[in-house]
Amino acid sequence: MAHKAALVTGSTSGIGLGIAKVLARNGYAIFLNGYGDKKTIEKLKTEIQSNSCAQVEHLEANLADLAEIESMFTSVQEKYPSGIDILVNNAGVQHVDTIETFPTSKWDHIIAVNLSASFHTIRLALTKMRAKGWGRIINISSAHGLVASPYKSAYVASKHGIIGLTKSVALETVNSGITCNAVCPGWVLTPLVEKQIQTIAQANNTSLEAARVTLISEKQPQLEMVTGEQIGDLVAFLCSESARNITGASLSIDGGWTVR
Ligand code: NAD
Repeated sequence: MAHKAALVTGSTSGIGLGIAKVLARNGYAIFLNGYGDKKTIEKLKTEIQSNSCAQVEHLEANLADLAEIESMFTSVQEKYPSGIDILVNNAGVQHVDTIETFPTSKWDHIIAVNLSASFHTIRLALTKMRAKGWGRIINISSAHGLVASPYKSAYVASKHGIIGLTKSVALETVNSGITCNAVCPGWVLTPLVEKQIQTIAQANNTSLEAARVTLISEKQPQLEMVTGEQIGDLVAFLCSESARNITGASLSIDGGWTVR
């Protein structure tokens, strides 16, 4: 296990960072990806390394740009010639608007980062995984991959799309030692959600705490937010040998959001 490497996209913040920390503690070498200034990224690397002794690298790539995704995989190849063993497609972006006023550039960007980037990373990771006869692909979808909400058309479409991609990849990789699953979180308090809480607080002229309760209680029966590290623990389980027969699944970790 110590010799296996994981690439977690969008891991400089929020859920991806939680996943990277847990995988590092489980002994995997980590490739981080995501935005952040050099100083912050160095601090994250040191923090993850000091809690795990794992090797941690950061790879720059704007996942909306195919050439940058391909060059990220060239860097992986140079640093880890046998290729990554675990791919976690986590990077995601959101925009809230009505269909009629949804900026078309935002639609394109959300589909590119939340869906098309995962097609490309999977495409680029699979050959080496097949050669090794082992691989774990985990796509971070959302409760919004299973049910919809208004004003999140691009996000909901991308998150439903990634579940379809997960199923196709699972079928194309059966009996190869590779599994592909989707994880569908409910609310997790990260910068992506903090922005939505601020918008509600402004619109309702209430405190951030009141806005947080409004946001969570509308969808999620359990009023407690899920944490990035809990999602990391689920991802780590999917990477274990005990999970080798779980493939093509969409696993909810959503405080009951999608059961009603
Ligand atoms: P976040 O905003 O905290 O982190 C997003 C990460 O993606 C950051 O590291 C950022 O730098 C990176 N990123 C954004 N655009 C990128 C790009 N073009 N190229 C490379 N990296 C890019 O978000 P989060 O809440 O941690 O969300 C992570 C994933 O979990 C997303 O796919 C999101 O849809 C999903 N999710 C989040 C929640 C939630 O409640 N926060 C719930 C369900 C699903």
